[in-house]
Amino acid sequence: MNKAELLYSGKAKSVYHTDNPDFMILEFRDDTSAFDGKKKAALARKGAVNNQFNAFVMEKLAAAGIPTHFEKQLSANESLVRKLTMLPVECVVRNRAAGSLVRRLGVEEGQTLSPPVFEFFLKNDDLGDPMINDAHILTFGWATAEQIAGMKALTLAVNDVLLKLFADGGMILVDYKLEFGMFKGELVLGDEFSPDGCRLWDSKTLEKMDKDRFRQDLGNVIEAYEEVGRRIGIEFQ
Ligand code: ADP
Ligand code: UDP
Repeated sequence: MNKAELLYSGKAKSVYHTDNPDFMILEFRDDTSAFDGKKKAALARKGAVNNQFNAFVMEKLAAAGIPTHFEKQLSANESLVRKLTMLPVECVVRNRAAGSLVRRLGVEEGQTLSPPVFEFFLKNDDLGDPMINDAHILTFGWATAEQIAGMKALTLAVNDVLLKLFADGGMILVDYKLEFGMFKGELVLGDEFSPDGCRLWDSKTLEKMDKDRFRQDLGNVIEAYEEVGRRIGIEFQ
């Protein structure tokens, strides 16, 4: 499928049309941002590492019966996906307390959360992605009750698959963010799953192996992403 004109350039990926209106190409760039775009850098190899990481995880999720937009990897840093009408919300699941949950509620970092906590955030950089609830989503028409229920069920189904995948590689899946969209009436997982959008800690040392290394200037960001990938069985090109 041919790469046609640029549709959108986000903070980390560029999106291209193809000659088929049902499909688009995601190009994973080396650009990295945090704190709603206020901290930025280009990290060598990040685009290729996240594209391959995402391809591997999306295939695992599809094998577990979760509908995803992922079709196939096209090159080291490009993938073909189904073009979704994205819902403007972010779905976060937390297995351990970290990040904004700790800041908001003053709970102890690392505390096990049982059952896992599910949160919605509005995808809006200008507003700093505020936390929202089902009532906001319904009232402002960001998604229907059916879509809300579907996003919750699929995000928690992803948790079952990925908690085990990372645990088998000696890591704790602390939390993660997913985005969903609609394709011909079906709710489908979109965007990406990579260490840019989740927290992963080494099970024994609790060392951070995700984007917090960038946020907190811990160094060796992409080396940590590659180590996570190797531990779950990815052979990077
Ligand atoms: P951001 O928009 O937050 O800066 P990215 O740089 O990752 O993020 O840009 C990718 C954009 O593409 C995001 O807005 C995301 O919601 C959107 N997107 C991801 N997957 C799909 C898809 N399958 N169909 C349509 N849009 C998608
Ligand atoms: N997250 C993300 N994109 C966002 C906001 C959060 O990928 O715009 C991820 C983040 O990497 C973490 C999880 O969602 O894995 C929960 O993030 P949190 O609410 O703790 O926010 P943060 O600490 O990043 O401010």
